[in-house]
This record gives sequence, structure tokens and C-alpha cells, in this order.
Amino acid sequence: MMEAMMTTEVGDEVFGEDPTVNSLEAKVAGMFGKEAALFCPSGTMTNQIAIKTHTQPLDELICDESSHVYQYEVGGYAFNSGVAVNLLPGVHGKITAAQVAAAIKPVYDWLPKSRLVVLENTANKGGGSYYTLNEMREISVLCRQKGLRFHLDGARIFNALVETGDDTREIGPLFDSISICLSKGLGAPVGSVLCGDADFIRQARRYRKVMGGGMRQAGILAAAGIYALDHHVSRLKTDNDHAKLLGQRLAQMPYVAAVRPVQTNIVIFDVHPPHTAASFWKSWPHTASKPRPSAPKPSGL
Ligand SMILES: *Cc1c(COP(=O)(O)O)cnc(C)c1O
Repeated sequence: MMEAMMTTEVGDEVFGEDPTVNSLEAKVAGMFGKEAALFCPSGTMTNQIAIKTHTQPLDELICDESSHVYQYEVGGYAFNSGVAVNLLPGVHGKITAAQVAAAIKPVYDWLPKSRLVVLENTANKGGGSYYTLNEMREISVLCRQKGLRFHLDGARIFNALVETGDDTREIGPLFDSISICLSKGLGAPVGSVLCGDADFIRQARRYRKVMGGGMRQAGILAAAGIYALDHHVSRLKTDNDHAKLLGQRLAQMPYVAAVRPVQTNIVIFDVHPPHTAASFWKSWPHTASKPRPSAPKPSGL
């Protein structure tokens, strides 16, 4: 990957002239059967741009209550797009077509307009659970019937696909837009890619610029992404298998109360009292000597 980064050709991507970024975007668009794609610095930005591009202020976005777009993007749906959020209580982070159908609001002046559904696959806070093609298709059909846009936060979509055996080309047509992360299990240092139809990506490109996400000689980073897609997707199966093994071993430990079902590469478990997450971390041999990474202290604004 480092060699690919060092030897790739670059250009000014703000002018659309970086050949490596262009080929990464074409590659991802092609994989999912979409017309175009956009390379961004982070998955938060690809999600935020997708919400911005699909909605108008006073619209509403529907998602699971534990989803990344709601919990971990600083409330950006409100800040960047001025939309309301309709949170559904999913099971392990997954929502159903029936739940979405029941959540769609009638059209009245005094209600936000249901406009966008966001699915997360795999579901991060759901413990790495994934959707079957049929589950996604049911929601997709509903969105089409009701005139709702449908976005996939596919930060870890390849962790799901190596389990289900489904193809990116089957997933692509179900959604209006898809975001994938290159910098999670795929192992690239930086970047996410958003794909959709050509008009959508044209507008998304403007929003990327206004958010400060236009990166000049970004080909160095895109080269890592291309390398990751070519060489690391199949390795995610090993990643998932290691997580399952870890989950099985943890379940045998006397201090472990429960392990959530391990479906991909995320392991979430509870410990018996008097243990706590913090005391467990301190007692872990590999981390005992290191301070637990903690969020920066609030600046007191
Ligand atoms: C990590 C992640 C993102 C994007 O996060 P960034 O750190 O901004 O790249 C988006 N959605 C999910 C589900 C994630 O786990």
C-alpha cells in the first residue's frame, strides 16, 4: 500500500485532474453500478453530504436510534441540513420495512416532511449486525413507492458482504446513495467514497467543497484506497472470523456476563460486577501500562 501511494500519479483534484482520485471514484461507482462517485476525507463527511444533497430544511430523516448519523456526527443532520430526525428502535441496530412504513408522516403544514431513510450496514452500535439483501430490498421498494430517498451508511459494508456472499452490484440499485469507508477494516489511512447518480454527485461535489473537503493532490490517499479495495476485501472474512473466536473465548470467561451475537468484526460484551468496563480495561495485560484513551476535555465553551 505504501508503495502504491508513493508511486501513483497525482494532479489537482479540485479541478478534477487527479488521475488516481478519478480512477478510485470510477472503480467504486462501477462496483456498485452507480454513475459517479466522490472521494472524501471521512465517512462523517460522506454521510453529511448525502443527507444535505437528499433533503431540504424542514424535511425529516428516518433511521435507527443507535445509528452513526444520529449518535456520532455531532448532530450534523440538524447543523448542516436543518432536518428533523425520526428515530426507530431497531433490533441490534437494524430496522424493518414495517417500522419505516409506520414512521412515514402524512403531509401537513405542521409536520416535517419524511424524505430520507438511512440504513447502516453493518450496524456499528448494533454490534456489527448486517442486513440480508431481502431486508434491504423491502425497505428500498417502500422508499420508491413513498417517494423517499434511501441512503446506505456502508462504512463496513464489505464486512457484511463477505458473510452474506451478496454482490456490490446487487446492493447498488437498492439505494440512491452509498457511502463506504476505506479507513476502517479495509486499512487505508484516510478516506471514504460516496456514490450515486451523476446529478447527485455533481451537487455533492459542491457540498464537499463548502465543507472544506476538496483535497488537492489527494491521489496519494486514493492510491491507498484502490490498493485496499483490490487486496483487502477478502481479508475482512479473516477479520470477522477472529472477532467470532474472540467472542467465543470471552463467553467462557467467568467475569463476562454476556456477549452480543458476533456477526462480523465487532465484539460487545458486559462484565459481571464488581468489574466495570473501566476496571476490565485497567486489568488487561496489554493495556495496563497505557492510559485508557479518552476524549479530549471539553474546552468549557
Ligand atoms: C466510522 C463510521 C463512519 C465514518 O466515520 P469517520 O470517522 O468520519 O470516517 C460512518 N458510519 C459508521 C457506521 C461508522 O462506523
